[in-house]
Amino acid sequence: MKLPYHAATSITISAVLYMVFKSWGMALACLIAGIFIDLDHFIDVGREHGWPFKVKKFFRVCNKGQFHRIVLIFHGWEWVFLSGIAAWMTNWTPWITGVFVGLGTHLVLDAFHNSNNLLSYSLIWRWKKGFHFDTIFSNLKSTKYRYKDTPLN
Ligand SMILES: [Zn+2]
Repeated sequence: MKLPYHAATSITISAVLYMVFKSWGMALACLIAGIFIDLDHFIDVGREHGWPFKVKKFFRVCNKGQFHRIVLIFHGWEWVFLSGIAAWMTNWTPWITGVFVGLGTHLVLDAFHNSNNLLSYSLIWRWKKGFHFDTIFSNLKSTKYRYKDTPLN
C-alpha cells in the first residue's frame, strides 16, 4: 500500500487510540510505527539499485516492484507477534501497545493490498524463499514493469 494511505490510516487509528485510551504515548507510537515501518524499503532499494538514489526513483522502484530480492526487514508478522507479546508482558504499556497496533495495522493493509498470500509478510517465510521477489509476490509476476526492462541509472 502506498505511503499516503498508510499515513491516513495511521493518523486515524492513532486518533481513535488517543480518544479511547487518552494516551499520547500510545497514539504517537502507533503513528510512528504505522508509517516508519516503510523505512526498510530504503535498505532494499539501496541494496538492489545502489546509493544514492533520488526520491522519485525510490518511489518508482517500490511502486513497480522492481526487485530481484526483497527483504523488508521490518515487514514481518513475527514483529507483530513479538510486540504483542511484549505489550502483554508489560501489562499493555501504552507505547509498546501503540507499536503493536501500528505494526499490525500496517501489515494487514499491506498483506491485503499487495499480495494474495498472507505468508508474503512473514520474515521467516521470505527467508525460506531466498527473498526472491517473484516468488514472494507471485501475484505481481504479470506486471509489465520488469526489473530488467527499466534501468534506473
Ligand atoms: Zn509497508
